[in-house]
Amino acid sequence: MNDVDRFVIIGGDAAAMSAASKAKRENPDLDVIVFEKGEWVSYAACGMPYYVKGDVDDLEDLVAVTPEAFREERDIDLRTQHEVVSIDPETKTVTVDAPGERFEQPYGALSIATGARAVEPLFDGFDLDGVFTLRSMDEADAIEDFVSEHDLKTATIVGGGYVGVEMAEALTERSLDVSIFEMLPRTLQPFGEETARVVEDHLREQGVDLHLETAVQGFAGDDRVESVELEADSVAADLVIVGVGVTPNVDLAEEAGIELGPTGAIATDEYGRTNVENVYAAGDCAEATNVVTGEPDHVPLALIANRAGRAIGSTVAGDPTPTGGTAGTAIVKAFDLGAARTGVIDPERARETGFDPVDVTIEAPTRPHYYPGATDLTVTLVADRESERMLGASVVGREGAKRIDTVATALTAELTVSELQNLDLAYAPPFSPVWDPVLTAAKVLAGKLES
Ligand SMILES: Cc1cc2nc3c(=O)[nH]c(=O)nc-3n(C[C@H](O)[C@H](O)[C@H](O)COP(=O)(O)OP(=O)(O)OC[C@H]3O[C@@H](n4cnc5c(N)ncnc54)[C@H](O)[C@@H]3O)c2cc1C
Repeated sequence: MNDVDRFVIIGGDAAAMSAASKAKRENPDLDVIVFEKGEWVSYAACGMPYYVKGDVDDLEDLVAVTPEAFREERDIDLRTQHEVVSIDPETKTVTVDAPGERFEQPYGALSIATGARAVEPLFDGFDLDGVFTLRSMDEADAIEDFVSEHDLKTATIVGGGYVGVEMAEALTERSLDVSIFEMLPRTLQPFGEETARVVEDHLREQGVDLHLETAVQGFAGDDRVESVELEADSVAADLVIVGVGVTPNVDLAEEAGIELGPTGAIATDEYGRTNVENVYAAGDCAEATNVVTGEPDHVPLALIANRAGRAIGSTVAGDPTPTGGTAGTAIVKAFDLGAARTGVIDPERARETGFDPVDVTIEAPTRPHYYPGATDLTVTLVADRESERMLGASVVGREGAKRIDTVATALTAELTVSELQNLDLAYAPPFSPVWDPVLTAAKVLAGKLES
């Protein structure tokens, strides 16, 4: 598919470094150049809440491969503090701003792996000390410093998504009184109502002051944040974390005439190719195909980024490799609970994509009644009425949320409810009841479809 001798990559994290490493491994003669505008590369952003919490000692521990190792052991020309400011598909060059210089870099193939950035609502007081988003390693560092260096009592989290929930746990562990303000009627929106309710009860049990359907208007203070402003009220806050979602970094692509898809991320085909010849895109800046709906989707999560980057690396090195679809599978820890989701759970979204959704929610024990340690897992399964094909699932409980992977596999294989029900899953008392909770839920859903 490609016969290029220079592969240029924009970005230095999951999608970028997977592409660079794979391309170089497959074709050591390929000249691989990576431009990362910051200092950090190949970092696990997913670990940042656990750094603030104190589970991870050093921020550096989140780095998978150091810049030196990329350069010396993998022979990748990695340049940090190099920001790509434009792409010219006509001349096949990118323009790069580096300390003290601006230059043009020709490419044979180009991969855009610019990621996503935190949404910053137009709130008054966003620039006050003590107001943070959490997207970059520098922000994680700054939050940790702020918590360690000040005598804080209260933390307010704006947004009840997974970053908000993870940070609620982290900051509670740091002995702060934590509030969450979420403008929608529930937290963890993509996880469905049943899972959200279980998580919300647990957050409250853990002492989190949870406010649903409560929109934050801004922040107030002199230099440092002192309060969060609501419509008719003001709440004291020594620290604020704003986690209201991410938006893909697509400006470079858009300015170069690269097409965006319906989600607003970069449109790609099954090999991660954009509409511009020899230009690829992967990770949080790009779309992937949803395995349930067959439609383009934007799922800004780590596996999708790593896998698409790796596939593009193979393709550019001469071995065409599809980037793979997404089921939108996600899992989050909320204090003592695990919550997970996959596929299409939202009935409205299911109907929009041509399905007639039927769902069940059950509670089932994670081990037999006689074996110590059993807890209840709440399982929601969704299927299409006519085809009986599985559409999605959500699970939540003190253990066993990774069981979502069974359903994610079923979605990719386009299994029906009865095919899911007939899977031969592992059983022994310390791990599961004979009927795994997912199988029990499938039995109940099959019954509902028959009636
Ligand atoms: C707090 C937090 C927790 C998370 N937890 C999870 C989790 O538990 N599970 C999960 O699956 N995912 C999680 N994620 C998401 C996951 O981190 C991302 O999906 C993943 O990092 C995406 O990788 P990426 O390479 O596409 O983009 P990014 O990681 O965003 O990297 C993009 C890189 O491109 C650089 N860049 C941007 N523009 C330019 C330019 N013009 N020139 C040069 N460089 C540029 C940026 O500096 C950045 O380093 C979490 C994210 C956060 C913030």
